[in-house]
Amino acid sequence: MHPLVSSLPFCVIAGPCSIESYEVLTQVARTIQDLGVTALRGGIYKMRTNPESFQGLGESAYSIVAQVKQELGLSLVSEVTDVRQIKGLSEVADVLQVGTRNMYNYELLKELGKQEKPVLLKRGLSAYLEEWLQAANYVIQGGNSRVMLCERGIRTFERETRNTLDLAAVPILKSKVNYPILVDPSHGTGRKDLVLPMALAAAAAGADGLLIEVHPNPEKALSDGAQALDLFELEDLMKRLRTLLPALGRRLSDPGIPFFSSL
Ligand code: PEP
Ligand code: MN
Repeated sequence: MHPLVSSLPFCVIAGPCSIESYEVLTQVARTIQDLGVTALRGGIYKMRTNPESFQGLGESAYSIVAQVKQELGLSLVSEVTDVRQIKGLSEVADVLQVGTRNMYNYELLKELGKQEKPVLLKRGLSAYLEEWLQAANYVIQGGNSRVMLCERGIRTFERETRNTLDLAAVPILKSKVNYPILVDPSHGTGRKDLVLPMALAAAAAGADGLLIEVHPNPEKALSDGAQALDLFELEDLMKRLRTLLPALGRRLSDPGIPFFSSL
């Protein structure tokens, strides 16, 4: 099949970089539900470069998530940073994300292979595509084939953007493997002004979905505010995607039906 033609509905996963409070999470969750976004994202355990930076709410976020999920029935994608979190996090998250810094953490990948939640595996910030696929094999060989990959930019000499988003990775991977391939233009650029054009470009390149950081008040975000869309900007992105996707022979995943439930 041509890499641009995917049989999967296009999924959008959006939410704050970090879960900060019930108030912020519920505001974002209500908006994404109104906009027909497929699933909510939100970090509970954060891998921050600077140890002085906000490290995530940890276990105290679980009750916030449980409440928002009970009220709205959304699915949550959240990052697991250590094997000791798998059990507890699985009770509130529907997809376990492995961040860029942990793509090479093979013991974590092996443990994720032994459990049933889908795994969203981000590309290591200096990983060759081949290394990334080998990392995915650690999960699959453990017995869990529900893996999706997420291109989130790699480190290059260019300083205008936080990372260099490698969109060529999308059609290359689509021609090699059957996993859904997502793109994260938020971390991929680090700049909110680039999120919309790169999101549309990712769809045009054949991606199966997007991971987007959103915050009701990006200037106040406890992490990654510079790359977060506000809720109006997310609405604009969804509107443009709804125009673009049919031209590409694709459709947006139905609201409330998580794209990964069919994996
Ligand atoms: C994130 O999605 O919040 C995140 C930390 O991403 P990455 O691992 O790609 O930096
Ligand atoms: Mn982030």
